[in-house]
Amino acid sequence: MADDPRRRIPRTDTVLVDPRLRRAVTTLGPHAVIDAVHAAQQAARAGQITADQVLEAAVAALPGRLSSLRPVINATGVVVHTNLGRAPLSLAARDALLAAAGSTDVEFDLAAGTRSTRRGQPAMAALRRLLPDASDVHVVNNNAAALVLVATALARGREVLISRGELVEIGDGFRIPDLLAATGARLREVGSTNRTHLGDYAEALGPDTALILKVHPSNFTVSGFTASVPVEALAALGPPVVYDLGSGLLAPDPLLPDEPDASTALRSGASLVTASGDKLLGGPQAGLIAGRSELVHVVRRHPVARAFRVDKLTLAALEATLRGPAPPVVQALHAEPAELRTRAEQIAAALPEADARVVPSEGVVGGGGAP
Ligand SMILES: *Cc1c(COP(=O)(O)O)cnc(C)c1O
Repeated sequence: MADDPRRRIPRTDTVLVDPRLRRAVTTLGPHAVIDAVHAAQQAARAGQITADQVLEAAVAALPGRLSSLRPVINATGVVVHTNLGRAPLSLAARDALLAAAGSTDVEFDLAAGTRSTRRGQPAMAALRRLLPDASDVHVVNNNAAALVLVATALARGREVLISRGELVEIGDGFRIPDLLAATGARLREVGSTNRTHLGDYAEALGPDTALILKVHPSNFTVSGFTASVPVEALAALGPPVVYDLGSGLLAPDPLLPDEPDASTALRSGASLVTASGDKLLGGPQAGLIAGRSELVHVVRRHPVARAFRVDKLTLAALEATLRGPAPPVVQALHAEPAELRTRAEQIAAALPEADARVVPSEGVVGGGGAP
């Protein structure tokens, strides 16, 4: 028993005297350090290391950071990969995040030394500049929140007309019709799965119609004998048309001819558009609401709006994305095949032991964009 090697495993407090671990306690906190020590002691008990290797093993087991979210390389060929955090932020957005991480003047006028009402204003102004057809904009946590807020503020207890071809499941079992029904708005489905005509909407129209909702089927395509009604025609029916675009494309992109964009939708008569900040816009997760100012005003002032309010980090990253250079998503989508080939050849050359060869492949946008 006396020479049982396990008895020589150093005690936790003995190991913690090491200056590297003491320093780690101040940067990582005691729990992470003690976990690393316990893991090393456990390895010694299991005979995987010797007792005198415990200290070094504990130091080696210290985590580099305290978030379990690890940076990964997205080599999937899916540009906006939902499982990999959708849009990777631009350097400008990352820098803005870091600057806003501490105390920041999000609601403070530094010149006057008083509280200011400018919260979110710079980010909204940046969005408005890119959307001259919107007389006002608002930003919430994500596009689902944007839809819920719009339906709550404008259609609660009344009817929302929606085509049966646009009853979309956005992912993870969440469905736009369920989301809308949860707000207390009544969904009135019109048309059929593959074909909906203007007359279908016109027939369903009544004094109780609060909105006509057009949802971009962003994650699937229906082909063959199909018909849907363009925004222009819907707008002529009278009630406000809300167009859920999904992707966050602000202006037409010739590479994505089937993807609707906010500018065109607004110019075509949509009263409001909603979109994600972290799909084709390439920014942080956010929900954009843009369109007619009297409607945006009602949406922004609704009590529920407070529950969907974005934090300073989102505002910082969104403003920088909107004002900055093309973010990684846009750069990736517009990368020339020749440039991608050169890059792939360099990677293949750097991996001689992996038998890596460069072959053509098709990428996809992903993340519920341009199916
Ligand atoms: C992605 C998407 C949503 C949901 O957006 P989130 O920002 O993920 O909440 C809603 N509608 C459409 C059409 C979408 O493509």
